[in-house]
Amino acid sequence: MKILLSALLMVFFHAKAQEDLVNVSQVLKLMGTRFEITVVAQNEEIGYININEAISEIKRIEKLISSWDEGSETSKINRNAGIRPVVVSRELFGLIQRAIGISKITDGAFDISYASIDSVWKFNGEMTKMPSPEAIRESVQKVGYGKIVLDQTKSTVFLPEKGMKIAFGALGKGYAADRAKALLVSKEVIGGIINASGDLTTWGTKYSGEKWMVGITNPLDKTKVFSWLPVIESAVATSGNYEKFLLFKGQKYSHIIDPRTGYPTQGIQSATVFAKNAELCDALATAVFVMGKDAGVHLINQLDGVEVVLIDDDNKILTSSGILLDTFEK
Ligand code: ADP
Ligand code: MG
Repeated sequence: MKILLSALLMVFFHAKAQEDLVNVSQVLKLMGTRFEITVVAQNEEIGYININEAISEIKRIEKLISSWDEGSETSKINRNAGIRPVVVSRELFGLIQRAIGISKITDGAFDISYASIDSVWKFNGEMTKMPSPEAIRESVQKVGYGKIVLDQTKSTVFLPEKGMKIAFGALGKGYAADRAKALLVSKEVIGGIINASGDLTTWGTKYSGEKWMVGITNPLDKTKVFSWLPVIESAVATSGNYEKFLLFKGQKYSHIIDPRTGYPTQGIQSATVFAKNAELCDALATAVFVMGKDAGVHLINQLDGVEVVLIDDDNKILTSSGILLDTFEK
């Protein structure tokens, strides 16, 4: 009888614990972008404690990788371009190594050394006309992931030419989301979603047991969601030209630049990539944008566990082979 009672009590407590779970969310600006962090927790207080841990982790990563922060390892590498190799943490070394890996599979469409082009194209409303072809040609001189010298044993990074520069604008948010998730998983947070302005990663389920759903923005009207998809233990990232772009003589130029030519990419309005981690999604979404629709979809079809949905300039939807198109035609 006693045994039965304690068994019943356990069931009761278990059921109660499930019932008591809540989703706790916080929106804030980190890494210059809007983050929304949601966790499943026993109560609000615990939820906010966990969210604070995630925030500290994202701030730590920003301090490490930001090319705007003079004190970051990235800035140190950039300051020493053409001068000397810089010893960096294993963490940054690994991130750079993986970024170069993406450059290799995308034939340089994705390139963390694109950053020296930044001085030519300004997406803050300052520009009133196209830069000259000479300035554009000049701007790509310093670009080239192949020139970056890595020394695994010494953990050093060397940019061999003065003026070379690296930056993580195209995958940093994804990386931060991955790390924040990993930290919360290690603290036994059973479910959550780290959303960096649409680049996001999920684990577990909502407190109710329902799947996390992700809305893909309609590039024709960014206030509208164009399709809702379940995202289970995985990540999504979107690169779109609806947020930052330039208009010259009615032509739209995106903020994603082909590092090989120095010109902004054209042809795609948005590319959404699905994969296991957000860093990869983020980098590949940018890469697909540069590669163009056919080459982009072709690349994604060759990668295991990676899918893409893109919308071209004629509002046509293209997908990789693992995506059922009718999801998007509703
Ligand atoms: P967002 O989500 O802010 O639109 P993306 O992930 O699409 O960002 O990356 C765009 C940013 O990446 C640009 O603002 C720039 O900093 C950087 N970038 C632009 N072109 C490239 C490129 N070809 N390779 C790597 N990074 C790039
Ligand atoms: Mg990206």
